[in-house]
Amino acid sequence: MGLLVQKFGGTSVADSNKVLAAARRAIRAHHAGDKVVVVVSARGHTTDELIDLAKEISDPPPARELDMLISTGEQVSVALMAMAVQALGVPAISFTGAQIGLVTDSFHTRARIREIATDRILQALDSGQIVIVAGFQGIDANANITTLGRGGSDTTAVALAAVLDADACEIYTDVDGVYTTDPRVVPEARKLDRISYDEMLELASLGAGVMHSRSIEFAKKYGVPIHVRSSFSDANGTWIVGEADASHAGSVTGCALVKDEARITVLGVPDRPGVVHELFRRIAQAKIVVDMIVQNVALHGTTEVSFTVAADDLTQALEVADTAARAIGAAGIDHDPQVSKVSIVGQGMRVHTGVAFSLFKALGAAGINIDMITTSEIKISVLVARISGVQALRIAHKTFSLEQASGDSAHAQFKPRHLASPARGQVTTDEHAAASPGMEDLVITDVELDTTQARITVLNLPNTPGQSAHVFERISSAGVFVDMIVQNTGRGDNTNLSFTVPRTQTTQAAEAVLQAVPHGQVVVDDDLAKLSVTGVGMRTHTGVATRMFGALADRNINIAMISTSEVRLNVITNQDAGHSGIACLRQAFHLPEPGQAQSK
Ligand code: ADP
Ligand code: ASP
Ligand code: MG
Repeated sequence: MGLLVQKFGGTSVADSNKVLAAARRAIRAHHAGDKVVVVVSARGHTTDELIDLAKEISDPPPARELDMLISTGEQVSVALMAMAVQALGVPAISFTGAQIGLVTDSFHTRARIREIATDRILQALDSGQIVIVAGFQGIDANANITTLGRGGSDTTAVALAAVLDADACEIYTDVDGVYTTDPRVVPEARKLDRISYDEMLELASLGAGVMHSRSIEFAKKYGVPIHVRSSFSDANGTWIVGEADASHAGSVTGCALVKDEARITVLGVPDRPGVVHELFRRIAQAKIVVDMIVQNVALHGTTEVSFTVAADDLTQALEVADTAARAIGAAGIDHDPQVSKVSIVGQGMRVHTGVAFSLFKALGAAGINIDMITTSEIKISVLVARISGVQALRIAHKTFSLEQASGDSAHAQFKPRHLASPARGQVTTDEHAAASPGMEDLVITDVELDTTQARITVLNLPNTPGQSAHVFERISSAGVFVDMIVQNTGRGDNTNLSFTVPRTQTTQAAEAVLQAVPHGQVVVDDDLAKLSVTGVGMRTHTGVATRMFGALADRNINIAMISTSEVRLNVITNQDAGHSGIACLRQAFHLPEPGQAQSK
């Protein structure tokens, strides 16, 4: 006999018939011998309607009262669901977040789970009841009702699966799984049989709305297998699992679009330690979430730092950036309110050579200019003009033939392994931090130093479509492995492109670039170290970058390049700085020296 958590999203409980259908599904699992915990979202568009209602009275509504209001949507659903299960002849009991002791911090409308008591749920399960829990909500230490952020019922479900040590968490929704991209935007998108936690984390935070990204952080941290599937059929859906169980076919697994982003560039930033930290410290203090961060190689003592924020945050971010620019002695700021981010994600993309080239080439051929590029180990993101966003997504999907099955469907009946928790050091690093550690705290698992790479910078690359493709075409055919790629926005006619390669391939790489851009200027820097911080919750905890940059600034370490992802933050420094930097980062993130016993 196992334990199963089943989560039903808004459309899956939108009317009485659907509630009854969901109840039947839970009952089937119950009769098959499983203990069943059901997590339900608010029905249909209830949450949106409640938010609109609040705004008719007060805009923006006070956060505490908004939580009081929007948490009612889920309360309606659990009551109806419990009635439905009982009406079908099986004992059931509904609970609110407060009733099961789901305790969060006090950040209304975006609270994080600190702990969940299991006694009441286990008691009810032991007495033969199906347990129905309201998603999305909890209470803080003072019993104020809190909510977890839009889409947060997924996070409730996976968190419950974690504390109850469930065999799996089933997410029932209006699509029959996780697709290569949003099927509503790209109809030829294909359902995936399996995807790794890291890939899903990247995709979810890069725009794939099918799962709340914090739920995947839980799943990864506690090793919970997730099965995303349709409420309206019995077809196998998509398993979200550990890397070892995930599919390894193809280099690119999926792609995603964030339509409404805005870019801010701080110009003429003095190239000295601590400056980047000061900029992002101020932005974090204003509670603005930064997405892409790109820093150019410094020229003549100054550099440019670009970052993107949600379009809605632009006005506030501009104010903060403007003040910060003055404070750090930068020349000024520049911005673009109309950009979109297109990303490709895949476990099989550990080196970017051919993948980057193919993407850049396809975009160039369609006349789409790339404004900024960032990469991490398993993703490449490019910033394009918003009017080209959807087209760029379609092109990315087509370029990697994502509509074609990659041969992993033979394992459709796959049964996941329940993983041991990979978590190691546990730290509370940001504004959500509290005295006692909570379930959703940031977990930093490792800091690493890599001194095997060199950096190639192409200066004054013409800022026209297809230029990066041109460079990477040569790089790719020279057989050079590319790790980080960074391209900052071009002001005027030119842009700068930097990337790192194994030091042994520096000469080939530089020659390849000169073939591609005969009049280009190429700068090779092999006094390079890459420092990486790896963990779970890297991006949703906005304080990680601040802490990393701060620790380096305290040691007077200058940062030459930055790249970010859901699971990793990389910076490039010189080699000396790398060696002293690794020690101070271990300290900053409370990780033991290599060879020492772990403190936790
Ligand atoms: P629920 O209410 O069940 O939580 P959501 O609306 O939050 O459902 O999530 C399901 C929707 O996510 C789908 O209808 C689909 O349009 C969208 N979506 C975005 N990206 C993807 C993707 N890669 N795969 C599947 N669905 C996606
Ligand atoms: N009802 C909440 C929302 O609409 C939570 C959820 O559906 O997951 O955001
Ligand atoms: Mg959802």
